Amino acid sequence: MKAVQYREIGKGPEVVEIDTPEPGPGQIRLKVTAAGLCHSDWFLMDLPEEQYTYGLPLTLGHEGAGVVDKLGDGVEGLKVGDPYAIYGPWGCGRCHACAQGAENYCPYAAELGITPPGLGAPGAMAEYVIVDDPRHLVPLGDLDPVETVSLTDAGLTPYHAIVSAREKLYPGGVAVVIGVGGLGHVGVQILRAISQVTVIAVDVSEEKLELATEVGAHHTVVSGPGAADSIRELTNGLGASAVFDFVGVQPTIDLAREVAAINSFIHIVGIGGGILPTGFFSTPMGAAVRAPYWGTRGELIEVLDLARTGSVGVHVERYDLDQAVEAYRKLHHGEVRGRAVVVP
Ligand code: NAD
Ligand code: ZN
Repeated sequence: MKAVQYREIGKGPEVVEIDTPEPGPGQIRLKVTAAGLCHSDWFLMDLPEEQYTYGLPLTLGHEGAGVVDKLGDGVEGLKVGDPYAIYGPWGCGRCHACAQGAENYCPYAAELGITPPGLGAPGAMAEYVIVDDPRHLVPLGDLDPVETVSLTDAGLTPYHAIVSAREKLYPGGVAVVIGVGGLGHVGVQILRAISQVTVIAVDVSEEKLELATEVGAHHTVVSGPGAADSIRELTNGLGASAVFDFVGVQPTIDLAREVAAINSFIHIVGIGGGILPTGFFSTPMGAAVRAPYWGTRGELIEVLDLARTGSVGVHVERYDLDQAVEAYRKLHHGEVRGRAVVVP
């Protein structure tokens, strides 16, 4: 089968021909219907050899959807042909976190060698993908897989970040969204769908800010010098009750701190490597800083249900497997509007 793999440090993704995998006992093989590209793929492909821990070759794709194609021994209750989205942050399935569906925070996954598809295990950017357990599958029903697949990360991650800041999303509150890319453009919609806050979107690109307005941001601000003053002005000098940084580089983290109100939440989602010094005189009084990771199984079900209501949708650029390398190039250069999705 065809697959998009990262094979050599520093060389970027390649389209290759590999053996079609067979599902082992308890596993399910999906025929992939869609796989999303995430900036985290570039995070790992940009790592120097001594920091790279995801194994090579790595089939990319941690946003995946597909139809059941073949069941491993012992798998029951699934029908060949049924459509599913893949819940990616696999945990041990037994601990306290996993019992709550928060496999994204399973403390045992790493030591057990359990890794998400596309971030260690073979991912969904291929014609077929193996899923380790039926519990990782969320039924898609009538949802279009191509339009929906990115909700498994670009939807689930901002949803988790936003619902865990719910107490700061009161009427009259202000949410700042920094970075209106794959995650951010869905984040804006989630904020509008589940709260009455004023949404201020920040990006370096005018095009992304146009998208932000299109998907519901009340105000847009160009990132850079002057952004903090503009946001302070828009909030009557008070700052934002919640800040979501979907970039996470030092300038955006500095901006997040500067525009956060007293007693606010600052959620840093982007893994750009910036640092936010937290302490009595470095963060606003009462402010809480968090770095949330992906989301829970229950939240994925909720995000898909939100999509069913029509209030949240991904702006998708479609590519076939042979165009995946070009799609990754565009993502690297900030040229994707919304999310790039590969349709095998
Ligand atoms: P993306 O490339 O689609 O979007 C990034 C956006 O940020 C772009 O619109 C870009 O123009 C904008 N941007 C870049 N520099 C900026 C700056 N200085 N100020 C304001 N905006 C700026 O990326 P994505 O796939 O949406 O991922 C966003 C980040 O979230 C990445 O760092 C990714 O690795 C990370 N991520 C984290 C998690 C998690 O669980 N914490 C999950 C998925 C992705
Ligand atoms: Zn991701």
